[in-house]
Amino acid sequence: MNQEKKYFAGLDIGGSTVKAALVDENGLSTGALTEVKSRVKEGFDATFEQLEEALRQLVEKEGVDISAVCGAGMDVPAPNCDGVVWTRANLGEDWVGTNVRDKLSERIGIPVYMTNDGNAAAIGEFSVRPDYDGSLLLVAPGTGLGGGLVLPSGKIYEGANGLSLEVGHVSVPHREDDGSLPDCSCGLKGCVEAWVSLMALRRRVALEIKKGKWADHPLASDNISIIDKAFQLRDYAERDDEMAVSIFQQQGQILGYALGDLVRVFDPGLVVIGGGLADTGENFRNRYMGWVQEGFIERAWSVYRNSPIEPEKVTTSFEWASGGDFSAALGMGFVARDLFG
Ligand SMILES: [Zn+2]
Repeated sequence: MNQEKKYFAGLDIGGSTVKAALVDENGLSTGALTEVKSRVKEGFDATFEQLEEALRQLVEKEGVDISAVCGAGMDVPAPNCDGVVWTRANLGEDWVGTNVRDKLSERIGIPVYMTNDGNAAAIGEFSVRPDYDGSLLLVAPGTGLGGGLVLPSGKIYEGANGLSLEVGHVSVPHREDDGSLPDCSCGLKGCVEAWVSLMALRRRVALEIKKGKWADHPLASDNISIIDKAFQLRDYAERDDEMAVSIFQQQGQILGYALGDLVRVFDPGLVVIGGGLADTGENFRNRYMGWVQEGFIERAWSVYRNSPIEPEKVTTSFEWASGGDFSAALGMGFVARDLFG
């Protein structure tokens, strides 16, 4: 047993699983990773039990005593500020208004840092790029459109109240053919999330299959629910299906519009695209990234693409997320080591 070394735990609390990672005192993954069932809907006490179980599994895998873990970082899938969840999202009711960060810290006897899932995903991507020391903007299309910003120091930019980087609710200059704007989950209209999320795919596929052009398309069948149609769309697009490709092409370009505005505000240097699309085949990923860049080029001034002084110098790079399923957990471990190491 190596008892002199210090370790830090990263705990990524999702709606269905809690992913956990152990980071060493140099901020590097020890390779000890684990996943336990999430019980967020049952309340924070049930979740704490799962976190303790995850911690036990991590130290067992690493062959160290639990006392070697000197701090933890955790992320929850809801807006939170200074240890307190502000809106329950998919969490159990008792999460809102309680300082769960301090409660967990008391219970496990080590300092705890807490943030939201978008920030954790962004710092996760930063932590898997140890040679990169610029800032990093992450956008992750999924059920919604999450995001996060890491500053060059490796600090997450959280805003005054933990409410920054709600990238999904930036408006984009695009309308349906009839001039209307789509409804967004937030209650507004025309947000980028309403164009590029899984919810948007459902709306889009329903609109497209009404067009006579796609009458013979297998997804035009009434035997498949709209939810399944949206899920299947990605496979169709990967197989070069014309309708599916046209839907993702529009989605990619509109994401590019939003990135044009976000890059003009933050000038991050590196934009990372996460979410489920990061796991698609290389051919489809390359095409999607091309559509994002088309949209970006329409909106962003040329200085956000190349330096006017050194034209070969790219001022904004685009990459796919590469940290895998545990990157948010690793990122939280990375932050814990930074704060408590
Ligand atoms: Zn919105």
